[in-house]
Amino acid sequence: MRWSAALLCFAVLTVARADDAAEASGRVRSVRYDYSRFSDGPRRVPRPRGASRARAEALGLGTRQTASRLLHGRPDPRWVEAAGGAMSEHLLWPVELGRFGRGFGYVRIRRPDLRHDGIDIVADEGAVVRAVADGIVAYSDNGVRGFGNVVMIVHPNGWASIYAHCYRTTVQPGWRVRRGERIAFVGNTGISRGPHLHFELRVHGRAVNPLRHFDGRPWLEAYRTWRRLRSEGSYEPPSDHTRAVLPPDRGPLRPSGSPTAERPFGSVTHLRAMLRRGPRADELAEVEGARYRNVLWPLRGGTRARREGRGLNIYGEGSPVRAIADGLVVYVGDELRGMGRAIGLLHPNGWISLYGHTAETYVEVGQQVQRGEWIARSGPHLHFQLRAEGGALDPVPLLVQVPGAVAW
Ligand SMILES: [Zn+2]
Repeated sequence: MRWSAALLCFAVLTVARADDAAEASGRVRSVRYDYSRFSDGPRRVPRPRGASRARAEALGLGTRQTASRLLHGRPDPRWVEAAGGAMSEHLLWPVELGRFGRGFGYVRIRRPDLRHDGIDIVADEGAVVRAVADGIVAYSDNGVRGFGNVVMIVHPNGWASIYAHCYRTTVQPGWRVRRGERIAFVGNTGISRGPHLHFELRVHGRAVNPLRHFDGRPWLEAYRTWRRLRSEGSYEPPSDHTRAVLPPDRGPLRPSGSPTAERPFGSVTHLRAMLRRGPRADELAEVEGARYRNVLWPLRGGTRARREGRGLNIYGEGSPVRAIADGLVVYVGDELRGMGRAIGLLHPNGWISLYGHTAETYVEVGQQVQRGEWIARSGPHLHFQLRAEGGALDPVPLLVQVPGAVAW
């Protein structure tokens, strides 16, 4: 019963259609809604692995009970504690070009008794969904009826944010996310008619109107930008690649006592060994995603770039650092000489990319990342290196999407 109450709000347009029929036959209030013809699939969620899986299991995250608790009551205090990070004063608008679709509360003309517990943000299928604030992923699956593929995040102040109807989710329970980090793609799963993000903010299980928690009216900004780009002919819908390429499911991981035993990655010793000898086949077997023969410009923006030592220095303080290609995080730490706080990614083609002098890192060892994903924030400059077959590879001739404003 509790489920059905929580879910009525997702039946938005379907309910309206049922009402049409009901009104025509004069049975207005006695309609029973038939959800059985809806499926919450296809289920597209990452397979739990690594340190996040261990954390999720220890905290009881990722189950339907987890989701239910967030929808109906206070989150477990341990989840709030594990959320880490900081709660910003304002939430980030979760879809960059997402337009306002439907408001919070009693907004239905035909069914004034049904409350809409969130807001609907309209965007193309495949548009990136980002975390509105720092937090820990408590749920990322499709087991909540009506929601489809859904992400739930617990924030350090005890609030929960919910992102429903996703095409796929890209985070797993137990991951700590940063405000602005990608968590899913907009979709049309669950009880939904047309691609949109159903977004909810829950305070101790009670749905509150999220609109007042954003800075100004980002949805108007988004609408204006979207409209301008379209009129200029420069609007680019999300690429099929981004949303359609799914990591192959390799079946259950090798049985093992602990996540660290089952994956050797993470230590600087192991990274150095891989850099020296190149990755082995068993190490490459852990990496998912597409193979590229070029290198995505590893920063969003940047003002100046020059070759430095075995790599490239790119200047753009505070800019998001992007993964140059799909890959597996094999190192996060500050033990690499001359690299400051650095990230190492192992790519399916055997390349290893290194991102040094970051101000802040957003990924953890064992995480699969996609090309273009934000993995860190740059310090005054990013030091980037590319390694292949045990040696350094000059990334410059391989770079794509270099901003025109960069001086060499
Ligand atoms: Zn909705």
